[in-house]
Amino acid sequence: MAHRDLPIYELEEALVTSLRTQGRLVVQAPTGSGKSTQLPQMLLDHGLLETGQAVILQPRRLATRMLAKRVAEELGSGLGGVVGYQIRLESRVSARTRIRFVTEGVLLRQMSFDDQLKGIDVLIFDEFHERHLYGDITLARAIQIQQSTRPDLKIVVMSATLDTVILKDYLAPCAVLTSQGRMFPVAMSYLAKTVNFEQEPVWDVAARECERLGGETAGDMLVFMPGAYEISRTVQALEARRGLRDFSCLPLHGELSTEQQDRAVARATTRKIIVSTNVAETSLTIDGVTAVIDSGLARIARFDPHRGINTLLVEKISAASADQRAGRAGRTAPGVCVRLWTERDHGQRSPQELPEVKRLDLSEVVLTLKATGINDVANFPWIEKPEPKALGRAELLLTDLGALDGQVGEITTLGRKMLNFPLHPRYARMLLEAESRDCVRPVALMAALTQGRNFLLRNASKAVEEARESVLGEEHESDFFLLMRAWLQADRSNYRLEVCRDLGLHAQGARQVAPLFDQFLKIAEKEGLQAGDRGVDSVAVRKCVLVGFSDQLARRLDVGTLRCDLVHGRRGLLARESVIQNSPLLVAAEITEVGGRGGEVNVLLNLATAIEETWLQELFPDDYCNASGVIYDETAKRVVVRRERKFRDLVLESKSSHEDPPLDAAARLLTSEVLADRIKLAAWDEAVEQWITRVNRLAEWFPELEITPITAKDRGTLIEQICYGEVSAKALKDKPVMPALRDWLTSEQLAVLDVYLPERLTMANGRRSRVTYHVEGPPVLSARIQELYGIEGKFTLGQGRVPVKIEVLAPNQRPIQVTDDLGNFWRDQYPKIKPELSRRYPRHEWR
Ligand code: ADP
Ligand code: MG
Repeated sequence: MAHRDLPIYELEEALVTSLRTQGRLVVQAPTGSGKSTQLPQMLLDHGLLETGQAVILQPRRLATRMLAKRVAEELGSGLGGVVGYQIRLESRVSARTRIRFVTEGVLLRQMSFDDQLKGIDVLIFDEFHERHLYGDITLARAIQIQQSTRPDLKIVVMSATLDTVILKDYLAPCAVLTSQGRMFPVAMSYLAKTVNFEQEPVWDVAARECERLGGETAGDMLVFMPGAYEISRTVQALEARRGLRDFSCLPLHGELSTEQQDRAVARATTRKIIVSTNVAETSLTIDGVTAVIDSGLARIARFDPHRGINTLLVEKISAASADQRAGRAGRTAPGVCVRLWTERDHGQRSPQELPEVKRLDLSEVVLTLKATGINDVANFPWIEKPEPKALGRAELLLTDLGALDGQVGEITTLGRKMLNFPLHPRYARMLLEAESRDCVRPVALMAALTQGRNFLLRNASKAVEEARESVLGEEHESDFFLLMRAWLQADRSNYRLEVCRDLGLHAQGARQVAPLFDQFLKIAEKEGLQAGDRGVDSVAVRKCVLVGFSDQLARRLDVGTLRCDLVHGRRGLLARESVIQNSPLLVAAEITEVGGRGGEVNVLLNLATAIEETWLQELFPDDYCNASGVIYDETAKRVVVRRERKFRDLVLESKSSHEDPPLDAAARLLTSEVLADRIKLAAWDEAVEQWITRVNRLAEWFPELEITPITAKDRGTLIEQICYGEVSAKALKDKPVMPALRDWLTSEQLAVLDVYLPERLTMANGRRSRVTYHVEGPPVLSARIQELYGIEGKFTLGQGRVPVKIEVLAPNQRPIQVTDDLGNFWRDQYPKIKPELSRRYPRHEWR
């Protein structure tokens, strides 16, 4: 097909017009329409790249290179001329380059030192429907740059699916262009029965289906497999089938040589079976395919809370992905698609994969943003905001790793170094440490071992345990060491099933470690780390583990149980099968939250490594401290001094000391016990409360005396003064309180208090009666009727300024009446109650 005939050319005019007038454009067209290869050429043809480049962002390295190569061919120029590409550590560009294909990370790195995006006219975000984390944040940064330093920058976002609602809102104002493309019908078929791939490997099932389809169809076939290993097994299985002898079977994935990759997409004289990862799902189009065989599996990056890292595990793809894969069979003619799962299983698949921002650990991306100078990551203009919890977790981890400054949250020098490793920050940190301790190789192996699923089977039989012990030896320092030896055994035997079975290893799981190990070693080498083949220095390696997992440091609580305390306020249980028997300190490379009561987090600790306390001091001088703490000991009921050693918030050791506690700290602790009612001050009685009320009312009624009222807070201060000098609850029991209270007032104020607001009042008949003061309302004088005979009218206190209420009591001290004016009482109420009272209390005087 001449490329002018591709569906995207329907949009050519609209596209060019809209870009001339508007800065943002969304292009939606099905896979194979010509978005990736043709759109950059249109920009070139129509003079939209007069001064600079079109930069096309790709999520995959393989597609980046192949698209560049294809466009260069179509333009009749060599790679690195008008068309170039740049992926990590590989670059083909020159001064003449107008169309540059790059991976997302490359552009983000450019943005971190060049916020003008010099030399770029148009930025094209390809495959945006995949919603990769780096794509998301690079687009957000591009928009920030367009809004600030580069209003002339053009941004184009391309997507193979219609699901562009979020995008339109986010990019508004922006133009949206849609093409339906051309699609032929694809006949779908499923397996009748679920196949257990553990028993019948997926490559055998795929090969069988290919053989069947080979006779029924005419075109090429495309098989989707999750990764390199499965692809090579599939190619072997296909080549072993007699019915497929006339086909050439071609693998396609990122780890192949460029020649092999090119061969998979090139035209051939024979019929082809291409066995590919999901790079062929939407990134690359291979002409001539009419049959798709889909394993339904892919390696999907996801945060694994047990390991605290992102993992790439083989998972079932979503229904949307499966539809994209099927669509590859109907591009040029009607096609067929065989799904290696049942229709029933299909109904249970998730309709769509979550965007990465919702499913990945964010620490690497947070570190990248910080390196770009974006410190407040929560308020970064995310297309979809990540969970605040996920952001918090990332920042805490980066701080623990030393990549962020604990005070201001800015990136540290170490953090910048870590960014050079395209790895989870934990492993970047561990490899950097390994370099200085000369143990890069074992640490790279450890990093590889934690990526996949554990291949050392748990609950092994007696025979397996014995075999492990005799082949692998005894181990007490790290579960990793056992795992490493087990893997080395398996690797040496080329993962022979008998060897793996005898040692209780999952052969397939062990096999997957090898390419990861290679990859880690390559990264380390490229960063200039020495990965010589030396023996394992246990201490050096364990220190590296500590540095990478210091946020999962645990201290055993006792000898008899597996209980531990962890940093960041967590409690946990060490896994029973751990080789760590006696070490009081350890780090766990895997922790599983199992819930907890009342805000407490409980975890299960796996893959443990024994740690020495002196290492904490050596490696984290700022987080390790020796402190003496003063506490109130509930059992001894006294304040005692404890000597504590802490790593962050984890108490490593706490010992009682016989020193006398400092008196101010003791007073403070006793006060809080008193305020919480756990210690009683017997002398603090009703009379003391009355005295405080009197002081406060005096302050209120006589502001000119300038008395400071006693607030709730002042009570604490007063109690602290009373407690000062004591260390035990017992000593406080009979401690007098009035001396401290009286000190609140000057001697003049004290004298005025007793004159103005006395405790007792002497009446005209010479009798003295009690006055009660309240927080509100007037003071109340209480007296028995007999004491009031001969008294008339109203009372006041404080030189006539404070009216007093009179509470008239019966002979039994029960109140009968409250009045402001005794004259009214004698005249109105008294005559009515007198007969009754005199009958009841005949022996009293009744006037
Ligand atoms: P889209 O980005 O819309 O999925 P592409 O621009 O990748 O579409 O592909 C458009 C068409 O160009 C494909 O349908 C295919 O015919 C052709 N094509 C693209 N890349 C290659 C290649 N490397 N080799 C041969 N043909 C290719
Ligand atoms: Mg494309």
